[in-house]
Amino acid sequence: METVKFLLDEDRIPTHWYNIAADLPSPLPTVLHPGTHQPIGPGDLAPLFPMALIMQEVSTERTIEIPDEVRDVYRQWRPTPLYRARRLEQALDTPAKIYYKYEGVSPAGSHKPNTAVAQAYYNKQEGITRLTTETGAGQWGSSLAFAGALFGIEVQVYMVKVSYHQKPYRRALMETYGARVVASPSDETHAGRQVLAEYPDSTGSLGIAISEAVEIAAQRDDTKYALGSVLNHVLLHQTVIGQEALAQLEMAGDYPDIIVGCTGGGSNFSGIAFPFIGAKLRGERDVRVVAVEPAACPSLTKGRYVYDFGDTGHYTPLVKMHTLGSTFVPSGIHAGGLRYHGMAPLVSHLYNLGHFEAIALQQLETFAAGVEFARIEGILPAPEANHAVAGAIREALRCKEEGVGKTILFNLCGHGHFDLQAYMDYQAGKLKDFEYAEEEVAMALAGLPPVNG
Ligand SMILES: *Cc1c(COP(=O)(O)O)cnc(C)c1O
Repeated sequence: METVKFLLDEDRIPTHWYNIAADLPSPLPTVLHPGTHQPIGPGDLAPLFPMALIMQEVSTERTIEIPDEVRDVYRQWRPTPLYRARRLEQALDTPAKIYYKYEGVSPAGSHKPNTAVAQAYYNKQEGITRLTTETGAGQWGSSLAFAGALFGIEVQVYMVKVSYHQKPYRRALMETYGARVVASPSDETHAGRQVLAEYPDSTGSLGIAISEAVEIAAQRDDTKYALGSVLNHVLLHQTVIGQEALAQLEMAGDYPDIIVGCTGGGSNFSGIAFPFIGAKLRGERDVRVVAVEPAACPSLTKGRYVYDFGDTGHYTPLVKMHTLGSTFVPSGIHAGGLRYHGMAPLVSHLYNLGHFEAIALQQLETFAAGVEFARIEGILPAPEANHAVAGAIREALRCKEEGVGKTILFNLCGHGHFDLQAYMDYQAGKLKDFEYAEEEVAMALAGLPPVNG
């Protein structure tokens, strides 16, 4: 059976990012200062982010123009291909049509450069010479390292310790792009030293690594902080994915009935889904959307929708989101990019309003899906992306049971070429499922800020 691929010309790279804030049925809850619990303004964020990104963070304009310099870099790998998974459909014997948008063709191998390039560009514009950040599996760190190298910005990455050891090749890639990589928790920051004093064997978490990166950025005028997910402006930048998919499905003469994406902090999910959810919010076209999260870190399905810190050290503003508690450290599953205690405020808000569904899947089911996908479609997905693959397969099998030929679109957010140790462990039977640690979540939630009443 032949491969069916939908490609757009370069001049079809979106000219604008889509801002779903313009179409929300009710506005996002305000962001609060971590100390005073009062609403914060753009000025409060200025030590951490360039003003252009802060203005995007609070914007309610429906579209925001993509600078030519950013589109010029996007041109290297965008528009990304949309495939119809005909062989997978046949193997599953489903009447459903399955399409996937493949973001693994970027230089760093995932969707993350879509925002890394934009963030590096705006920081450069405002004279910033150094960026600090955190990284889980290393996808975000390598994306920012790539973008920093393009725009001549020094990049310092705090990498979650378990991934630092599990994924040495990601570290090598970051260092090749010129970044400095530090295992987190480290003894370079107050936040890191505090964790190490209490838990000398800490495997780290994104929440801890964020504290370290924020702490360093807040100390110097020439240094700012970059976040690879969660924030409104990051989700905004990722909407190039869904906008392109919309145009490609138009070429195919289709429109999705069901969209599936994996959620860590929510950015690739938002990227593929927001342009379609926006159309639904405007009353133009209906769609069912499913977020897939890991059972070991189930912020949407098991977390609470409350104000919480974005980091473990409590330096960040308080945002209302689905959270497992800022001190929760999830099990060391291989989908490192999905090990975050919270969820993007925009995603949380839409979930709370009932605009999409969420499911939590166990690691073994997702790897089984990833291996099946690789054998049938040829592309080896990242462990995070395996969650979307598994979710899409579940939907396709449900279509088979119900005998309905729906159109499924999912985001294949990255390739797994740096995750082969995980696949080796899976093949050797060494991976296991993790229930999320209920008592630990309860403990972390007991430490929620008092602003929740
Ligand atoms: C970082 C990452 C994720 C998780 O982050 P989101 O913001 O939820 O997209 C998922 N997949 C891949 C390949 C990643 O690199």
